[in-house]
Amino acid sequence: MTARTHDLAAITALALVAVMQPIPVLTLSTVLLALLANQIGGIAPDIDQPTAPLRRNLPIGHIFGKLFDLLSGGHRFLSHSLIGVVLFGLLAHLLLGALQPLMPHVDTQIVLLAFMIGVLSHLVMDTFTKEGVPWLLPIPVKFGIPPIKKFRVTTGHWAEHLLVIPLLLLCDVALIASRYDQLLAYIHHQLIR
Ligand SMILES: [Zn+2]
Repeated sequence: MTARTHDLAAITALALVAVMQPIPVLTLSTVLLALLANQIGGIAPDIDQPTAPLRRNLPIGHIFGKLFDLLSGGHRFLSHSLIGVVLFGLLAHLLLGALQPLMPHVDTQIVLLAFMIGVLSHLVMDTFTKEGVPWLLPIPVKFGIPPIKKFRVTTGHWAEHLLVIPLLLLCDVALIASRYDQLLAYIHHQLIR
């Protein structure tokens, strides 16, 4: 899938998890950082691609990407597996732990959770593409939904733009509508004071 679809899928997954539980009391800085972390998580597994947005947009992305190529074994490999998810989680946990003293008002557990939801949403979305995802590395099998390859989505082709993106947008609208009143009350009482 393209980076735009992954961004949208990450926020949709975050919204889905958020509506399934009572809205916690969060500071504005936690909400903003969680949204940012969720979007970074949503495209993080594609750091194994030379054209990855993280590589192009972050100053150290290029160097990090090259190093990652050496360690990850190429595109749709380590970063697109459950082992990769755990490694991303560990890295994010360490980074947030180091940054916590600088941002005492941020709930880093929520930020980490939002990041991990983004990472997982990426793998789920890529599972619908022709290439599939090697979820269970080191078992070298790429899984895909549906199992027959020709019915899966080709990255950047019409099905992604005309089916996947509208469906994700529809999900977002439905999720927001399902908790609209609470969301408005939350913004008024918790975020804008
Ligand atoms: Zn990917």
